[in-house]
Amino acid sequence: MTDKKQLFPIKTNTACAWKWGYSSVYFSSGTTSSCTYAKKLKIPENNFSSFHNLPEKMDDRQQMLKGLWPKNNSCNYCKRIEDVGGFSERMSQLTRQNDMNVISPELFVDASAVEVTPTFLEVYFSNTCNMSCVYCGPHYSSKWEEELKLYGPMERFEKIDDQYGTQRSHENKFYDHQKEQFWKYLEENNRFKILRWFSLAGGEPLVIPELEECLDFWDDHPNENLTFQMNTNLKANDYRFDKFLCRIEKLTKQKKIYQFKVIGSLDGIGPQQEYARYGLDIKQWIRNFEKLLKTQNISVGINSAISALTLHEFPFLLEKIIEWNKDRRIIDRIVHSFSPDTSLTPVYIFNADVFKDTIDRCKKLFIVKNRADDSSKKRWEGFALSVNNSTNDIKKINELKKYLSELDKRRNTDWKKTFPWLVNL
Ligand code: SF4
Repeated sequence: MTDKKQLFPIKTNTACAWKWGYSSVYFSSGTTSSCTYAKKLKIPENNFSSFHNLPEKMDDRQQMLKGLWPKNNSCNYCKRIEDVGGFSERMSQLTRQNDMNVISPELFVDASAVEVTPTFLEVYFSNTCNMSCVYCGPHYSSKWEEELKLYGPMERFEKIDDQYGTQRSHENKFYDHQKEQFWKYLEENNRFKILRWFSLAGGEPLVIPELEECLDFWDDHPNENLTFQMNTNLKANDYRFDKFLCRIEKLTKQKKIYQFKVIGSLDGIGPQQEYARYGLDIKQWIRNFEKLLKTQNISVGINSAISALTLHEFPFLLEKIIEWNKDRRIIDRIVHSFSPDTSLTPVYIFNADVFKDTIDRCKKLFIVKNRADDSSKKRWEGFALSVNNSTNDIKKINELKKYLSELDKRRNTDWKKTFPWLVNL
């Protein structure tokens, strides 16, 4: 289903704006992907600037131009939802393309171009992080790396055959060189001015040295159309967090960028959440988040991983968001996005009735006051449809239990107490 009024010029039934405009760059592994759900690809060591137009990415675009899904199941996440009539991330993206500036400029000259300039960049620098979430791994978290060194390898990480996934740590000997090439790439042909969205992701941006490097870059290369987004676990003491707020307030007051957007990661409120996001101090999270809500000139959001481990606590977060939004203007509402975990704790490995009541309750808690709310609600309904007919995958459930038992030994936690609903499944 395609909306013929959409601004994105490619109107086939599988065309996705992410595939043309968006790239993630993972410096710790020297890889890239055009969509969070797509396979990570190695960036050629001698040709960093080709990262957005690698042959595999261009082939995916070719497939979409023909109305086909990319090869290698790389868009299975959206296909799965669309196959059951749901509203996918791809469809949501198309509705959000309401600004011509976010479309790669080459598409205005030739709507079938597959070699294009990105308008959305997401960067992952080193894996330095102060938490070790259960669905994460050493690729994104140095805490995970430390734990594995201390207690030895875990079966989960050994078994998974995903060369550049979250399950492995990486040694990229070209790290500094590629970082240098990256800033050069943005300067060349004034690409930094074409960019509309620059997102800094984990490790944890509040603890990596590159946060200052990024802020300095945009201080020196102003772009009045740029949204600088940062995804953070909000684990920072008052001194560190206040210092960060001062720096970003200065950047926006001086109009060096269009806006700064801070997205706090949280999937629920309660003990299951503290188990899953290991290291989280929920009171500190809420304190820092409420400081963000009071800071002028920044936009605030929350991103939730939808995991079987925390879904039962997701409604409490939705209720809290309703409370926070109560006195906010429609344009300042908290943007709430979510991404279903598809690795180890996906909801679809359980019988649909395990989560049915919670999922239905959540549907009522997605309040729609603006376009972003509408898109989130529709995506939630699409997600609900996609897990509607799920049945217990005993093998995967047992693997999950085994993994949690192994974690408990290392962390002195107790999954059976935290997730009593899982014990007898
Ligand atoms: S998985 Fe979905 S959002 Fe990602 S590139 Fe494919 S169609 Fe687009």
